[in-house]
Amino acid sequence: MKALDELKTRLLEVSDLNSSTALLRWDQQTYMPRGGAAARGRQMATLSRLAHEKFTDAAVGRLLDRAERETASLPPDSDGAALVRVTRRLYERSVRIPASLVSEFDEHNAATYQAWTVAQPANDFATMRPLLEKTLELSRRKANCFPGYESIADPLIDMDDHGMKASSVRELFSALRARLVPLVHAITSRPPADDSCLRQHAPAAEQLAFGAQVIKAFGFDSERGRLDLTPHPFTTRFSLGDVRITTRVREDVLTGSLFVTLHECGHALYEQGIRGELEGTPLAAVASFGVDESQSRLWENLVGRSRGFWEHFYPKLQQAFPKQLGEVELDTFYRAINRVERSLCRGHADEVTYNLHILLRFGLELDLLEGRLAVKDLPHAWRERFEADLGIPVPDDRLGVLQDVHWYSGPIGGVFQGYTLGNVMSAQFHAAALAAHPEIPGQIAKGEFGTLRGWLRDNLYQHGARFTAAELIRRATGKDMSSEPYLDYLWRKYQPLYRLEERGRYATGNGPLKAQPAS
Ligand code: ZN
Repeated sequence: MKALDELKTRLLEVSDLNSSTALLRWDQQTYMPRGGAAARGRQMATLSRLAHEKFTDAAVGRLLDRAERETASLPPDSDGAALVRVTRRLYERSVRIPASLVSEFDEHNAATYQAWTVAQPANDFATMRPLLEKTLELSRRKANCFPGYESIADPLIDMDDHGMKASSVRELFSALRARLVPLVHAITSRPPADDSCLRQHAPAAEQLAFGAQVIKAFGFDSERGRLDLTPHPFTTRFSLGDVRITTRVREDVLTGSLFVTLHECGHALYEQGIRGELEGTPLAAVASFGVDESQSRLWENLVGRSRGFWEHFYPKLQQAFPKQLGEVELDTFYRAINRVERSLCRGHADEVTYNLHILLRFGLELDLLEGRLAVKDLPHAWRERFEADLGIPVPDDRLGVLQDVHWYSGPIGGVFQGYTLGNVMSAQFHAAALAAHPEIPGQIAKGEFGTLRGWLRDNLYQHGARFTAAELIRRATGKDMSSEPYLDYLWRKYQPLYRLEERGRYATGNGPLKAQPAS
């Protein structure tokens, strides 16, 4: 396996350069003094360029040719065959996009992001319109580096969620929308949950200490990771032995850092669980954006917002915050953390309404890319569809089309679908783990997470990027990806919380939310 070994040596150098860039970025977003900004941007750009040059070198292409012949007789799911297959895909992607387009897009993104930080709070779409028109043009050019697609969005979606296409995502999402819209309507027709127990002052130190206690119980390995503070939380990895998570704190909300910490911990458990032999190769990575997000959502929502979890942890939370929660019943707290409401902001949306925010963005992206919608008509289209799906009017562009950073810091298309794919997969993985180990809910109610984490490690985490998302799901759950486990999970959880009528379970509706008759 001479070529394979040579290839690994080269890939290790690329990995070292990329990890060094990641370390510089982590520092930039946590501890770097403001004065370091300009030099840090340059340092990161230099390392990224070196890594890109090293990876796209024609010698890598020749090594891949030889390694493909060497590994031809290996089983397709062996490490060697998977390494060559995944590296070939990433290599072809990197060499097909011209360096000139990459740097033009990078420069445009930096300028657009700067403009957005001013235009967003000022509700100024007019300034952003020409920039966004350019982003759309660049996104199309990027997609057109990969001819032969069915939808122009396909190559962009494939970059983050390899194996998915606009048509498959659209089909999944329309099935989801048909059931989510009536569910949101049924829940919001009921009296809202009282969440005043959460809206109390809680000191940062106590919040962080409680979060640290929970992630330790989840199995976050602090010998191979750290938790730090940042304004915009993220998870990063410098090696399989150094996976860092970050969180933020709001002292005016009692759970102002907890769920963010649990979310990032979910990402970290995945990366800490990747098999050590894959270190330094493109296989030491998450399988896709959707699979990555499925793990943050699983630990944050399916575990961290479950009744059983709080049977164990609520008395501890009360001990940490006796003034705030001493008199508050567990059920009141449980209802508060699972309050469902129609709201304008994706980032603060609850589990039930969240996906409608994503479906709206995904639909608009497709219309823009496929030429059915012009950027100038985007604010109007946003308002119209938002009101149809979420049932409330959008007062301005600040909370509408200017809300999220994504379109103003990267391409249009290819990212948003991953959040909902993650939610859908999270329930499918969770259901499969519980089918294999029916004792898991009882263990969670005792604060024990080892069986669940072990199942996830064996079926998902250890494999890194060896399989596509679709293959992983099939291997782990025995079925293709489906929205049914997710819809089932939502119904089982929210039906008793909001005393919904059983006949509403399979209600479907594609019409506007506000036009549904009140039950
Ligand atoms: Zn996440």
